[in-house]
Amino acid sequence: MRTISILGATGSVGASTLDLIRRDRDKWRVVALTANRSARELANLAREFGAEVAVVGDESCLADLREALAGSGVEAAGGPDALVEAAARGAEMTVAAIVGCAGLAPTMAAIEKGGSIALANKEALVSAGEVMTAAVERHGATLLPVDSEHNAIFQCLHGEDLNDVRWITLTASGGPFRDASRAEIEAATPAQAVAHPNWDMGAKISVDSATMMNKGLEFIEAHHLFPVGLDRLRIIVHPQSIVHSMVEYRDGSTLAQLGPSDMRVPIASALAWPGRMDTPCEPLDLARIGTLTFRAPDEDLFPATRVARECASAGGAAPAVLNAANEVAVAAFLAGKIAFTKIVAQCEDVLAKGIPAAPASLEEVIAVDAEARRKAQGLMAIV
Ligand code: NAD
Ligand code: MG
Repeated sequence: MRTISILGATGSVGASTLDLIRRDRDKWRVVALTANRSARELANLAREFGAEVAVVGDESCLADLREALAGSGVEAAGGPDALVEAAARGAEMTVAAIVGCAGLAPTMAAIEKGGSIALANKEALVSAGEVMTAAVERHGATLLPVDSEHNAIFQCLHGEDLNDVRWITLTASGGPFRDASRAEIEAATPAQAVAHPNWDMGAKISVDSATMMNKGLEFIEAHHLFPVGLDRLRIIVHPQSIVHSMVEYRDGSTLAQLGPSDMRVPIASALAWPGRMDTPCEPLDLARIGTLTFRAPDEDLFPATRVARECASAGGAAPAVLNAANEVAVAAFLAGKIAFTKIVAQCEDVLAKGIPAAPASLEEVIAVDAEARRKAQGLMAIV
């Protein structure tokens, strides 16, 4: 039996993880399950899985959580510090599936315990960069990428020498507007943006897929996970989302990982690493799919990947500023306050206001994030 904590248990990745664990109950003991505000849903999961502790990030939901857990024997806690404390209980496996930089401190707490971290929460790695990778190194933790592209690359690199890599190619579905005109993109509504053609995901990452900022963040994520150098990382649009990414080696061989567009596949790969486990996913039927297509990204229509590449290249605090500005802009777009094309434009405006010195600790990353959020909110107040 292995112990597991799931940070962001009520989200899309959290639900996919729990679905796998539900099918394999005698292999896992659940330590902590966390959510932000969905106290009742979290309490139901904590009861079902016999969790040690359930935590809501938003402390105002703690009373509801306590009430829903009464008599269950599951501890209840609330607030950002309680998230960190739950992650620091040091489960052997921690699934980091909170959305946004809000997941950074709990993920770092799990890393400091030296266990395995199945990382879905890309914003945490994008913001913290070397602060996180250095902590992984220092504490002997194992970082297992869950983001489907990075999980694919991780599998393709297994047993290989990074010096032999010619290219790492991240595939991108292109999102719901991949075939849209500029006029359609300018008029895009939140409902259209969250309706992803291939994947069923949380609202924030769905909007990121629509702007292509998701691929931009993933480019920075890949740069930290697989340090082959920025000039050996590239992006290709692959609308079918069957090839999840690829690695080309110097002898001309390209290794790719293929699978259905179902997050349970990369999650299972991380949970069972270095072994394998069963998933209930449909086997890949390539004869039925028939055609796999690829094309170059259009950075005039979707500038996010260019902006992210520039931030990766600038390094230091730039990716954290980009991520914070994007989180604020996506929330504003979802709330109907700004137009779709303003999301990336506003990120560029916040970046243009200046990049602080490179953060050297978790606290400094959080300070950079907070300051960039203030700038992004300030820009919207002017508009
Ligand atoms: P989601 O919105 O469905 O779920 C997010 C989870 O985080 C929920 O449990 C929510 O309660 C919790 N949460 C949100 N804000 C919080 C806060 N401030 N404090 C504490 N908890 C908070 O998101 P998701 O789609 O599951 O994505 C989770 C992460 O995984 C994101 O970083 C996303 O980029 C990444 N990811 C998701 C997918 C996918 O298919 N959904 C694929 C690849 C990567
Ligand atoms: Mg991805």
